[in-house]
Amino acid sequence: MSTINQIIKHLEQFAPTIYQESYDNCGLLTGDATWELTKVLVTLDCTEAVVDEAIAKGCNLIVAHHPIIFGGLKKINGKNYVERTVIKAIKNDIAIYAIHTNLDNMQFGVNHKICEKLGLINTQILVPKSGMLKMLCVYVPQAHLQVVQEALFNAGAGDIGNYSECSFYATGMGTFKGNEHSHAFVGKIGERHQEPEYKLEVVVDDSKLDKVISALKSAHPYEVVAFNVYTIMNPNNTIGSGMIGELPEDLNTEDFLKHLKSAMNLTLVRYTPYSKSIKKVAVCGGSGSFLLKNAIGAQADAFVTADFKYHEFFDAENHLMIADIGHYESEIFTINLLADEIVKKFPTFAVILSEINTNPINYYI
Ligand SMILES: [Zn+2]
Repeated sequence: MSTINQIIKHLEQFAPTIYQESYDNCGLLTGDATWELTKVLVTLDCTEAVVDEAIAKGCNLIVAHHPIIFGGLKKINGKNYVERTVIKAIKNDIAIYAIHTNLDNMQFGVNHKICEKLGLINTQILVPKSGMLKMLCVYVPQAHLQVVQEALFNAGAGDIGNYSECSFYATGMGTFKGNEHSHAFVGKIGERHQEPEYKLEVVVDDSKLDKVISALKSAHPYEVVAFNVYTIMNPNNTIGSGMIGELPEDLNTEDFLKHLKSAMNLTLVRYTPYSKSIKKVAVCGGSGSFLLKNAIGAQADAFVTADFKYHEFFDAENHLMIADIGHYESEIFTINLLADEIVKKFPTFAVILSEINTNPINYYI
């Protein structure tokens, strides 16, 4: 028997919700994580038609990229598609789980999928997130350094980009005096004890902090563990907005547009003229105009994204080509990414890709 919670746990290991943007609403939106799972339906958007599809196909979990409840619901009486979708899901015991900007921000998330489709190499996050890396500082009796260090590393501390087990320690002398209620592992009650200690510091990503602190408390010999956590300036190069990579060889603008159209299965591309050939390509699934300056700063020749407004196209100014491929089109392959990720961990689960085209925009050509 499998529960919905098992899928959620795995997805949240892959894309921790702590990485979602502040305006977002990721996580379980309807249903109960303890329900026994029947089948999973993966979709970009969760609409009434998608809930109908889940019912018809016997799926009681919908994993959607876009959260159907986004701006908050004050009334639920079926007056618009959001309310009707939520009502239908609840009436039919369908759980809806959203994995949105946390997946956008992952190194192997939405933007990686676009890079993969375009065949980009040497890819990296365009704007790595800062403020996500913490430094954990703790005082450890010298004989216990290795045990504590080991426990912290095993719990996920010490990783910075391509480096692991990053730590620093320096010697010093700690003092303490326990009262009659204390259970100090060394020293005498009522007497000041001096203990040679190491001040140990390890870097920890925000998403792993709770796990690392509980590992610290179980591995550390002191009854009361003194520790401190502070934010460090290093950006986390594995988390952030957009990606940038290179085409294996330069393409002229015409060939690049052809390649883009066929790789992303597009009906059309809205683009700005560019007078050079294209090698470096920045991408951002969904609405990416906020990253235009970063794409230009990173010397991209093209920026593949969606939802550019008329006046924003002017900002390209031949620094690069803006290629607006449509929001739905830029993100639709995310459903393959999610389904593959679930199947990788649970090969026996039935994971179905939605067959409903939820794109609200049609093209008349
Ligand atoms: Zn989107």
